[in-house]
Amino acid sequence: MEYVSTRGSAPVLDFEGVTLAGLATDGGLYLPREWPRFAESEIAALAGLPYPELAARIMAPFVGDSLTEARLLELCRTSYGSFAHAAVTPLVQLDERQWLLELFHGPTLAFKDVALQLLGRLFEDFLARRGERLTIVGATSGDTGSAAISAVAGRDNIDIFMLHPKGRVSDVQRRQMTTVKAPNVHNIALEGASFDDAQAMVKRMFGDPALTARFHLGAVNSINWARLMAQVVYYFAAALQLGAPHRPVAFSVPTGNFGDVFAGYVAAQMGLPIARLVVATNVNDILHRALSAGDYSAGTVTPTAAPSMDIQVSSNFERLLFDCGGRDGLALAEQMRGFEASKAMRLTNAQREGAAALMASARADASDMSRAMRWAYDRAGEVIDPHTAIGLHAARALGTSGDLPREVPIVTLATAHPGKFRDAVERATGFRPGLPSRVGDLFSREEACTDLPGDYAAVAAYVAERATPSA
Ligand SMILES: *Cc1c(COP(=O)(O)O)cnc(C)c1O
Repeated sequence: MEYVSTRGSAPVLDFEGVTLAGLATDGGLYLPREWPRFAESEIAALAGLPYPELAARIMAPFVGDSLTEARLLELCRTSYGSFAHAAVTPLVQLDERQWLLELFHGPTLAFKDVALQLLGRLFEDFLARRGERLTIVGATSGDTGSAAISAVAGRDNIDIFMLHPKGRVSDVQRRQMTTVKAPNVHNIALEGASFDDAQAMVKRMFGDPALTARFHLGAVNSINWARLMAQVVYYFAAALQLGAPHRPVAFSVPTGNFGDVFAGYVAAQMGLPIARLVVATNVNDILHRALSAGDYSAGTVTPTAAPSMDIQVSSNFERLLFDCGGRDGLALAEQMRGFEASKAMRLTNAQREGAAALMASARADASDMSRAMRWAYDRAGEVIDPHTAIGLHAARALGTSGDLPREVPIVTLATAHPGKFRDAVERATGFRPGLPSRVGDLFSREEACTDLPGDYAAVAAYVAERATPSA
């Protein structure tokens, strides 16, 4: 499989190349040159496979010659063996029509483990083969950081530098990052910064010759194609259980950086019958405005109880704009330059219509979120986290809108374990969820983290001093 950049002027790479590259050299994001497509009979034949086998079958066309099928399956087995539920991503029924897809049974309690546990192992295989080292730089609003650190801590040939906005992640999220004791793990708390500031710094590092000349920088944010690829699998897993390919299924996705929902878009391009894909946002609603009115303009970030969705600029939206807008990289590069200069742009008609063919969007404020949490608790005894609650709010709105035939089930992606956000859950429901025993003695372990000013030069110097050069 060949991969091309959304901005049209970076080298074409294979799967191994895009996995290690992260961002393309022209500032764009990599996508497969074309979507692999499964016939209805091929999808039907996937029903009932254990998750790791399903994963290897769905990912094989994207991986191409970069791994043998046997090695891919082996990596899936070890990655998903670290999950606490044998089904890996089990479905839970809430009422006749509404379902939850629990994606939080991995080591750090959020859906990001599903992709990152695999990505850590892909890195290790590809680096060993090339005899190279990788310096991972990442920005996190909480969940990416802990999942990425868990995925690469102690692995050979990798250093990881993880930036988070100081004071803007939950205590559980912070401790899941800062209590990992491994010499290759470096946590940085950015003072006075938002997640978008941290993400902008990471992007700048990828274009900074002072760093790129000495270090091979790698990305674990969802700009990394391999992450999205791994997330495509659970859309298939859920839809197959609910009757696909013979019955269409709708999904509601709590959205921040647009990675998870884009994986659903990919599943649909591959032939999975997805009736609707709902982009659920909190009050940081740039994506809702873009999809409902064509207005992609960034405001300022409002901190909410769902911090992983407190984002104004969603990196992966560029992938959708590219694919729906006729795959014209140079035109998109122009459009994105305009956006970077003015923090605002209009979607083209092709982009709007292409997105609207599959996607809808909804926005939930704090009271919508609390109501959805209480509804899940009252109706089905399920305690859900704030991100999932925003997705469920949107799913319920879709269910009552009359836009879908009644027999189409609606699946909300449950993106985090409620224990990860216990304070917010307690405020909404009066019930304080516990933490699963697999997180162990999180609150008695010592933390290691460096506070730095939200200033690019200070962060770049810190990384340059501590990373191991690539050759
Ligand atoms: C990362 C995250 C999201 C947002 O996912 P994107 O792929 O960035 O859109 C939603 N909920 C939780 C709990 C997350 O960790």
